[in-house]
Amino acid sequence: MKPFGIVIHGGAGTVLKAKLSPDLERDYRTALGQALNAGHAVLARGGTSLDAVVAAVTIMEDSPLFNAGKGAVLNSDGVAELDASIMDGHTLAGGGVAAVKRVKNPIQLARAVMDKSPHVLFTSEGAENFAKQQGFTLVRNSYFITDHRKQELKKAQELEKKKSKSAKAELEEFSFGTVGAVALDKNGNLAAATSTGGRTNKKPGRVGDTPIIGAGTYANNATCAVSGTGHGEFFMRTVAAHEVSALMEHRGLDVEAAAREVIRKIGALGGEGGLIAIDRAGRVALPFNTSGMYRGHRVNGQPPVVEIFGKP
Ligand code: ASP
Repeated sequence: MKPFGIVIHGGAGTVLKAKLSPDLERDYRTALGQALNAGHAVLARGGTSLDAVVAAVTIMEDSPLFNAGKGAVLNSDGVAELDASIMDGHTLAGGGVAAVKRVKNPIQLARAVMDKSPHVLFTSEGAENFAKQQGFTLVRNSYFITDHRKQELKKAQELEKKKSKSAKAELEEFSFGTVGAVALDKNGNLAAATSTGGRTNKKPGRVGDTPIIGAGTYANNATCAVSGTGHGEFFMRTVAAHEVSALMEHRGLDVEAAAREVIRKIGALGGEGGLIAIDRAGRVALPFNTSGMYRGHRVNGQPPVVEIFGKP
């Protein structure tokens, strides 16, 4: 059998069993399972890894549970500003959108940027104009906003005023739920996709690692496909997703060792987060240095696995 499979994440952060109600845990597991199976179904019928990662990420963008699409976290003005990117490991083509406010599924627009424009990254109004030209239906920003995220923003703004160490630590607990998927198809092609609302209470216009090829997303058939989640500034400074690939290409590390090394580097700078990766043989890695990461994988005919809590 030709190797194929998919790995997904729904964000890394403070995810403790004691803090997640049984109902919510069940909802997360169901949503992760649906995303995983949607992506896997594309691969099983011989579809491309690009179509698989878009299918999986679209489901998580549409779920209010995750910090992407509907249910995205809010910036300091109470607005959802969304970032996403996608990369094709076969051609090394990439597409991304940053700070979009009206595109229902940013990952689908990132795909259109890759497939239908000569560019790699579009921002804000330019991205939305491109979306209109491509026939995307735009939604109101209120479509993305949930009561839960409004409450989180209020709490985050109160904590930010306090400026104490414990308030800062508590603040870190808000921002997770970014979604991503990496896949290997039956033709040996790798792809990666990531989508997020960014960080709670971020300044308007702040862009993180997620829409940046090489930082939050990277895929190369010669090595692996990677999607990251966590404190984006650290993923940008370590060029995290590309670094996993570079460690495999230049130092001969396997996907597991390369992925762990990058999370170690992020941790050494004081950053928190996790990433998912898959290589050409369908070997996977899901390291994180937070208490948990919503995640799942279904690879090489094995049954689907969905996990939430820690130690990787
Ligand atoms: N990496 C995302 C960002 O910094 C957030 C996250 O993954 O939690 O925008």
